[in-house]
Amino acid sequence: MSASRTPVLVVGAGLAGCLLALELAHDGVASIVVERSSRSSWHPELNLVSGRGMELLRRLGLADLVRSDGVDPDRSAATAWSRSFGESPILVTPMPSVNELRRQYAGTTDGSAPVEPYALLTGVDLATRLRDCVRAHPLIDLREGWIFTDLRLEPGRTFATPRPWSGATIPPPRRPGPGCPPSGSAAANSSSTCSDPSSPYSISPPARPGAPSWTRPRRGASR
Ligand SMILES: Cc1cc2nc3c(=O)[nH]c(=O)nc-3n(C[C@H](O)[C@H](O)[C@H](O)COP(=O)(O)OP(=O)(O)OC[C@H]3O[C@@H](n4cnc5c(N)ncnc54)[C@H](O)[C@@H]3O)c2cc1C
Repeated sequence: MSASRTPVLVVGAGLAGCLLALELAHDGVASIVVERSSRSSWHPELNLVSGRGMELLRRLGLADLVRSDGVDPDRSAATAWSRSFGESPILVTPMPSVNELRRQYAGTTDGSAPVEPYALLTGVDLATRLRDCVRAHPLIDLREGWIFTDLRLEPGRTFATPRPWSGATIPPPRRPGPGCPPSGSAAANSSSTCSDPSSPYSISPPARPGAPSWTRPRRGASR
C-alpha cells in the first residue's frame, strides 16, 4: 500500500486548522489537511475578529479579503452580555466603528495600538474564505471528506490513518481563491509522492531545518 509523506498533518479545516496550514505555508512548510466535511461549518459562531487577530490575517495577506465580508466600516457596534437569550443584557459594551478606530490608532504613536481594527463577520464567511485559500494554496494539500481515525508512532516517523467519512458530500473542485496568498515556492515545483489518499500518512520530520522533505502532490491526484 502506498503512502503520502508530509512533515505536517493538520486534522480539521476549521478556523484553527486552516490558519495553521496557511501560517506554515507562509513560512514555506507544506502540509496535508484532513477534513471530514466537504464544506465549512454552517454554524456562524464567530462574529468578532479582534484587532490582533486581524493583524495575523494581514501578515498572511488576507485582511482585506476578510474585511470585504464584514459589516460597514462606518457602522459602530455593541457587545451585549446577558445570562441567557431573551433576557435583558446586564452589560452593554459599545464598540467604535472600524473607521473610527483607524483614526484613533493613527493618532497612537507609542506602539500600543494594533495595526488593524477588529472585523465583524459571520464565522461561516470567515471559515469559507480561509478554506478557499487553503484549497488554492500550492503548498497545502486539502483532503476533504476524510476523517482522521488513528495515529501510530514509530522511531523517526508517525503514521496517521484517515478514512472516508460517510457524512461527507462530494468535495468541490479546487479553484483559485480570489485574494488568497500568492502561490509559488520551491516546493510548488517539485514532483509528486502522493498516490492514494486512503493510505496511511507517513509524517516525517524535514531532512534539515527549513528544507521540508515533503513534495507536493499533483493537482487532482488521487482524489
Ligand atoms: C456561540 C459561539 C460564539 C463565538 N464567538 C466568537 C467570536 O465572536 N470571536 C472569536 O474569536 N471566537 C468566537 N467563538 C469561538 C470560535 O468560533 C472557535 O474558537 C473556533 O471556531 C474554533 O475553531 P477550530 O478550528 O478549533 O474548530 P472548528 O471550527 O470546530 O473546526 C474543527 C474542524 O475539524 C473537523 N474535524 C474534527 N474532527 C475531525 C477528524 N477526526 N478528522 C477530520 N476532521 C475533523 C471538523 O469537521 C471541523 O471542520 C465562538 C464560539 C461559539 C460556540
